Amino acid sequence: ATPMSIMVGVGRGAQVGVLIKNAEALERFEKIDTLVVDKTGTLTEGRPAVIAIEPIAGMAEDELLRLAASLERGSEHPLADAVLRAAKARGLSLSEAKDFDSPVGKGVLGIVDGKRIVLGGARIMTEQGTDLTPLAAQADALRSDGTTTVFATIDGELSGLLGIADPIKASTPEAVRALRAEGVRVIMMTGDNRATALAVAKRLGIDEVEAEVLPEDKAKVVQKFRAEGRSVAMAGDGVNDAPALAAAEVGVAMGAGADVAIESAGVTLLKGDLEGLVRARRLSRAVMRNIR
Ligand code: ADP
Ligand code: MG
Repeated sequence: ATPMSIMVGVGRGAQVGVLIKNAEALERFEKIDTLVVDKTGTLTEGRPAVIAIEPIAGMAEDELLRLAASLERGSEHPLADAVLRAAKARGLSLSEAKDFDSPVGKGVLGIVDGKRIVLGGARIMTEQGTDLTPLAAQADALRSDGTTTVFATIDGELSGLLGIADPIKASTPEAVRALRAEGVRVIMMTGDNRATALAVAKRLGIDEVEAEVLPEDKAKVVQKFRAEGRSVAMAGDGVNDAPALAAAEVGVAMGAGADVAIESAGVTLLKGDLEGLVRARRLSRAVMRNIR
């Protein structure tokens, strides 16, 4: 490609909020036939809210939320933010958490008011031997609606669950449709539960889902598709996504995302939605066609 037309392409991208790092990224974009896309914050708004509080008999809703929020103060996860906002909305006064730990992609744990609290997805619960059947019906109902479920144990006893919903970005369905119509295979990737992920994917017309993927395994999913001979773009916004962005032929960071994600990406979408990706791909094709 001639430097001139590449520069024009990069400039035109910038005008529509698509920042292309270098000529290589623009050239590679044309060949992309597969998009692996992070669910939270990329397909969805990334501003989740607590929509259900299901304590187990004997526990008050506010107390469950208060203990959970006291622990989540130590986490920077979008789910933590949702729990904190819900507690604030109810005017709950939080306690100091001790011995705080946050295993990535799993949850948070620590001591609040002398009680040992663990908060997180099914994986961390299963790892500590907690039987989730008392809340299975509630969890299934929430997940089938695309809601994320977070369980809580207090001193080893299952105490309740929180349903946390993150709305789909308004522009996502049309962007997914356009990409698929242009022959791009779209795969949703998430650390979230499979049932929740499938419900969200269904609404978007996405039929391939890689769910319950640990942060350290996200790059492996990208590599798996590349090993099958696909030309893979990976779009994501989180700190956890940086290795997966780097593993893709083109890493696409969402403008509102973490700095480290933006650094690992060849393309940054300033508006933070997939519409920009559709534009970037069309732009790259136009530029490359022009050159040949
Ligand atoms: P995503 O792919 O959506 O970014 P993560 O890998 O960050 O997901 O997290 C996977 C799962 O781990 C979440 O769906 C949730 O069940 C659990 N989890 C992670 N961090 C937290 C937290 N701070 N509080 C509660 N649950 C958490
Ligand atoms: Mg994430």
